[in-house]
Amino acid sequence: MQQISVLGSTGSIGVNTLDVIRAHPDKYNIFALGANKHDARMLAQCLEFHPEYAVLNDENAALRLKTALHAAGSKTEVLSGAKALVEIASSADVDTVMAAIVGAAGLDSTMAAVVAGKRVLLANKESLVMGGRLFTDAVSRHGAALMPIDSEHNAIFQCMPRQYESLQAAGIRRILLTGSGGPFRQTPLAALAGKTPEQACLHPNWSMGQKISVDSATMMNKGLEFIEACWLFKAQPSDIEIVIHPQSIVHSMVEYTDGSVLAQMGMPDMRTPIANCLGWPARIESNVEPLNFYTLGALEFTAPDFDRFPSLRLSIDAMKQGKDYAVALNAANEIGVDAFLNGRLGFTQIADVIAEVLESWRASEPDSLAAVKDADHLARESARAFIARVSN
Ligand code: NAD
Ligand code: MG
Repeated sequence: MQQISVLGSTGSIGVNTLDVIRAHPDKYNIFALGANKHDARMLAQCLEFHPEYAVLNDENAALRLKTALHAAGSKTEVLSGAKALVEIASSADVDTVMAAIVGAAGLDSTMAAVVAGKRVLLANKESLVMGGRLFTDAVSRHGAALMPIDSEHNAIFQCMPRQYESLQAAGIRRILLTGSGGPFRQTPLAALAGKTPEQACLHPNWSMGQKISVDSATMMNKGLEFIEACWLFKAQPSDIEIVIHPQSIVHSMVEYTDGSVLAQMGMPDMRTPIANCLGWPARIESNVEPLNFYTLGALEFTAPDFDRFPSLRLSIDAMKQGKDYAVALNAANEIGVDAFLNGRLGFTQIADVIAEVLESWRASEPDSLAAVKDADHLARESARAFIARVSN
């Protein structure tokens, strides 16, 4: 029986994770659940999965949860705060951690799971974008396993040899990172500036949390995934090409020197990569609908449009520049997306915030998680100052 902590259990990935786990009560037991403040959903999850611990970051939400669980006669212990999230990610009783908190808020708990040598199912791409080498070093030093939940990276993982020294030694010519292009792939450029949060969150193929939905509309999501792929697969920026594939059926590809291209396909449903990582190296049921090739229709592939999606270029450049440029990029994006969702910034201004922060960024090589957090903090300040200047 594998003992599992799900961090971000009330979110889109968390709910999908519990759905896969629900189908395998013989294999997986929920040790702990963690989230921010959605106590009603957390209550239902606790009453179904009976974890030892439930953690809500928000203190008042944790109090409400505690009262409700007590009234229901539940034995689940309720904790609150960021430290408790770190504890359930690193407890000696846990084998596998689903890291599915959104954004920089997931940094500490994801790193704690790595340092504790866990099998870490990584959905929280922002932590790898920020932590980069610190993460990959910690993974090898502590014998952890970093399993990619992001559908593209999970696809690449499935198309890769099990072990390799370098891409070159494995005969890999390129990694082809696919992206749908989001809801605004064909919107006239002049109309982009007026797009609302509701429109940005209406993804054509995937149903996801708000932040990643906006990131998909700006294609910053693909930019973050580009950086994520460099770290996960020991790749240089020149090894990875982004390919627009509007149907989201091919989830990414790996091209070998003999001309073979291996692709992983499936329905756009996160339960497939989640089941792949949970079960690996075995294959387990995910309850995802099979692909029907008779009704699928045409699959299209085109080059990305860097004018339409300036965040793509900004991300690739940040990775090329190294140091803590990706920390600044990620922080500026989080602040920009938040301001957009709260009506303080126009859609196309999200990329302006990122460009502005990177423009004046005084980079250094972060040698610790504390240095990463300092850089994150500085970049957020810089992004907020820019937004205050442009938003009125
Ligand atoms: P979501 O907004 O639906 O859920 C986010 C979760 O994080 C919630 O459970 C929330 O309570 C929790 N959370 C937020 N702030 C927190 C804090 N300070 N402390 C503790 N918990 C906190 O987001 P999502 O779509 O599930 O995405 C989660 C992560 O997975 C993101 O990094 C995203 O990029 C990545 N991801 C998501 C998808 C998808 O299909 N949704 C696909 C690939 C990768
Ligand atoms: Mg993805």
